[in-house]
Amino acid sequence: MKYDVAIVGAGIAGLSLAWTLNRQGKSVIILERSANAQGASVRNFGMVWPVGHPLGEVRDLALRSREIWLNVAQQANIWADPRGSLTLAYEEIEAQVLREFMHEAGNDPAVGRLVSPAEAKQICPSIRLEGLRLALHSKTEICVDPREVVHLLAPYLTTLGIEIRFATPVATVEEGRVILSSGDVIEADKVVVCAGPDLRDILPGVGPAAGLIRSTLQMMRLKPKGNSFPAMGVHLCAGLTLGHYANFRNCPSLSKLKAFHSVKWPKQCEEGIHVLVSQHRDGSLTVGDSHDYGDRTLPYISEDVNQAIINALSEFLDWSEFEVAERWLGHYNTAPGQFYSWVNPAPGVWSLNLFGTGMTLSFGVAERVANELILA
Ligand SMILES: Cc1cc2nc3c(=O)[nH]c(=O)nc-3n(C[C@H](O)[C@H](O)[C@H](O)COP(=O)(O)OP(=O)(O)OC[C@H]3O[C@@H](n4cnc5c(N)ncnc54)[C@H](O)[C@@H]3O)c2cc1C
Repeated sequence: MKYDVAIVGAGIAGLSLAWTLNRQGKSVIILERSANAQGASVRNFGMVWPVGHPLGEVRDLALRSREIWLNVAQQANIWADPRGSLTLAYEEIEAQVLREFMHEAGNDPAVGRLVSPAEAKQICPSIRLEGLRLALHSKTEICVDPREVVHLLAPYLTTLGIEIRFATPVATVEEGRVILSSGDVIEADKVVVCAGPDLRDILPGVGPAAGLIRSTLQMMRLKPKGNSFPAMGVHLCAGLTLGHYANFRNCPSLSKLKAFHSVKWPKQCEEGIHVLVSQHRDGSLTVGDSHDYGDRTLPYISEDVNQAIINALSEFLDWSEFEVAERWLGHYNTAPGQFYSWVNPAPGVWSLNLFGTGMTLSFGVAERVANELILA
């Protein structure tokens, strides 16, 4: 059989693209090397996070993606909680950046609302009130559980007629063909590689040509010590995140904020740490992360880095009811000033790489690139 499209990789990029193409009547096969997906799509916070994207086109893409996420989650019986987020400012310079951001947004309540410490504490009783100056409350964020989402999505896609072959590593791709490591060949009019950073094994020249840089992150899961746990109700982040996400990039006080953080949080700045927290249905917290860039990162989890993440977390969350249950590394490709990479390195062959907010953007990006793919 010859398929309309063959996709390599059953992470969120491959699955969301397959879902989109299926809706447009295309026959699709997905080839996944592992017995179940184990890449960035199962290692993340599960944050669908529109508020982290710059106002305008990219935010609109994130919001469109959010809309599709909620629709697909309902169809596929995937837990998706539209809980919103709080960005907490414990320093005056951080509060200033939040004010500048909302000024740029024209104080549009659809983007968010600046709330007092007391109101922030009402929204999320778990946060530390001491020293809190201001918070940004946004209602657009969703929480999904990355440990279940791609594993529920894949069987759902098969019910729609999409073929998915697990434990099927791909060796290389070329016009009209996917060549498996077994030597078997799958024929397809168009081939899309959605292999995350392992794109380099299949199409070695594409990453360097597209300016892709591998990012390695350290993460941890905290589980409640007792049976009862405080439900946080929102995703949380604090001052260090202001220097990381592109939504704050136009704020005039950003460089002052970064200089301030380099003195207050030297280890965190050195390790690219900003702290995000999501809470899942069992009460556990996913906490991270650090960022190490380049291909030469070693596979070791550093206790120093874990401690620096915990220290920054302790500024805004009393986590004494929790203990560290798991730690892991995650990887994605990234490129300065971009949010994903979509390239056509050879006739009939495309590569889709999602970056640091790929869970958020997945379905929106899939819709955009599927339209291009069909017209190509
Ligand atoms: C620690 C961490 C936290 C994050 N948190 C968030 C978040 O909260 N919100 C957000 O929006 N984004 C987040 N991201 C980003 C997001 O997770 C990624 O952008 C997204 O999951 C990438 O999806 P993907 O399908 O491109 O890659 P992956 O999930 O890595 O999937 C690639 C798949 O390709 C397969 N593959 C590779 N090579 C081959 C081959 N030769 N043959 C067959 N199959 C192959 C792999 O086995 C894998 O299953 C986070 C990322 C990390 C690492």
